[in-house]
Amino acid sequence: MRASAAVWASALLLLAGCGAGGAAQGLSPAGEGTAPSETTAPADPQPAVTPPPSGPTAGAGSGVTGAPPAAQAETPGKDEPKPKPAYRMNKNYDFVPIDPGGNKKVVLLTFDDGPKEKAQLETILDSLDKHKAKAIFFVNGYRVKQNPELLKRIRERGQTIGNHSWDHIDLKKENEETIRKQIGDVQRIVQDTVGAAPRFFRPPFGSSNDFVKKLAKDEGMLFMTWSNGSEDWLASNQKPEGVVKRVLEQLHPGSNILMHELPWTAEALDDLLTKLEEKGYAFLDPDAIDTSYWPFEQTSHQ
Ligand SMILES: [Zn+2]
Repeated sequence: MRASAAVWASALLLLAGCGAGGAAQGLSPAGEGTAPSETTAPADPQPAVTPPPSGPTAGAGSGVTGAPPAAQAETPGKDEPKPKPAYRMNKNYDFVPIDPGGNKKVVLLTFDDGPKEKAQLETILDSLDKHKAKAIFFVNGYRVKQNPELLKRIRERGQTIGNHSWDHIDLKKENEETIRKQIGDVQRIVQDTVGAAPRFFRPPFGSSNDFVKKLAKDEGMLFMTWSNGSEDWLASNQKPEGVVKRVLEQLHPGSNILMHELPWTAEALDDLLTKLEEKGYAFLDPDAIDTSYWPFEQTSHQ
């Protein structure tokens, strides 16, 4: 019953090529207020590399939903068939279609630092459903332990869960044993709570090193930071209009949009998704991402 939103909106590559937006500015999402003031620029400074054209052809309903408004269709549940991987992430953490003719005007929506609070989460989930959009919720283990029912809710609503470490600490400053536990324990609690372990990893503050990347990979996850920061974590930007404005300013094809489970972001989401649709963007389904494709040289395999 998946919404077969065939999105063939003319995929002219806009020249809005601002590579890595907020991420490149070294801004660190503040998380829970105990953030170390990291200034790591998570985006790779190298230019975006389009993966070689190979693999499955991106056809209609190839993992993007949203604009233009799709026909009816209920929210796909967790047992819905998965779309065939049709997108890969590049070194700049942007998403590009595997098929060169695929739709480049897509964005990935992500929400970090939950699961926190029921009403706020439901508002986000409702807005995603309204726009037939999929997202990754990068969760912290200690939050999952506090709110296992909210994690189940994310899963029940057909959304994807990612690993954001157990304690939301700066992993780059920790020893290997601690890093292993911070990442591995989240894999286990998510697996135990919803029956499947995350396939995506994002380090707190976008701060990592080669060991963190390799471990994420060893745990079967695609490592990412982001390429479009909503800056909803900044004290100066805690308004719905500010969140929308910052995302649109950095908008480019394949944007990996970082947001958080925060009140002003939840409030902004419906309007933000409407504006993205108006600009011809579709929402990338995380299930359509080829997580086996590893764009980083340090821990390359295959
Ligand atoms: Zn975070």
